[in-house]
Amino acid sequence: MKKLSLVIPVYFEEECITQFLNEVRPVLESIGPSWEIVFIDDGSKDRTVEIIKEQALLENRIKLIEFSYNQGKQAAFSAGIKYASGDYFIYMDSDLQDPPNEIPRFIEEIDKGYDLVFGIRREKIDSLINKIYSKIFWTTLNKFTGMEIPTGLAVMRIFNRQFANKFLEYGEQNRFIEGIFMHIGMKRTEIEITQRERFAGKSKFNFRKKLQLAFDAIFDFSELPLKFAVRLGTILSLCGFLSLIIILFLKLFVVDFAAGWPSIISAIALSLGLQLFFIGVAAIYIGKIYKESKNRPLYSIKQFTNL
Ligand code: UDP
Ligand code: MG
Repeated sequence: MKKLSLVIPVYFEEECITQFLNEVRPVLESIGPSWEIVFIDDGSKDRTVEIIKEQALLENRIKLIEFSYNQGKQAAFSAGIKYASGDYFIYMDSDLQDPPNEIPRFIEEIDKGYDLVFGIRREKIDSLINKIYSKIFWTTLNKFTGMEIPTGLAVMRIFNRQFANKFLEYGEQNRFIEGIFMHIGMKRTEIEITQRERFAGKSKFNFRKKLQLAFDAIFDFSELPLKFAVRLGTILSLCGFLSLIIILFLKLFVVDFAAGWPSIISAIALSLGLQLFFIGVAAIYIGKIYKESKNRPLYSIKQFTNL
């Protein structure tokens, strides 16, 4: 009998936890007795921790890792994988957007001999602006990194112990989970699932946070912005050099034309702007290198319950 670990990051989810457990537990019981739910509290300041602890007192297969402060869903996921002890891992959100009753289908699929089964949304239930954002995000990311991440990827997925161990070997501070998942490779497939609306509460990812995530993903998994900077820089230098020769030639042999300072100013402004932009690109990478080189722990844990 294989043990199933659910890895669930939670952040201000007091309104969802109880319902989540009510829906998940019968499904797990129907599969067998060998399961655990590992919640990782990412620094909530509402009743999230209290509610989980109450449940953990009654059921020791409900476990909790408490982060000292908000360290992000990626860090929470990494901690969950580290401390969960299953043969299979299910990763899903706690807001019930991912349907718990699909868990048996995931198990059925991975049992066919895969290492990873991604959930793919049949239909994205989201605002139009979020849908457009997602589309642009994934297309750009795939272009930039060449990763070919499946479209409509849901959070919900299952993977085996071997895959989890591979994941744990990735020591990077800048962690874009989907990127690492694709980089691990191994045998993977997808199944379609029907997502629902968030059960209660609000999404923790506003547009600014999402944009930040998109930039991180691109800069963590691609050197294209750097290459682009070098290419454009080369082209512009060549253009500048050519125009200099042409102007010199005209001035010496054709006409002696008056100083056109507006054009000079605009040329200077353009080149300065471009230079600053690309220094910025380089600086982002330097910042990432700096963060990696400090080699700090990935997360800071305050307390364990039932672990
Ligand atoms: N979450 C987290 N840390 C954060 C933000 C979110 O652990 O800093 C959790 C949150 O509790 C939820 C999951 O990550 O279980 C996804 O968050 P949310 O539903 O707000 O994002 P969305 O579904 O809108 O992308
Ligand atoms: Mg959600």
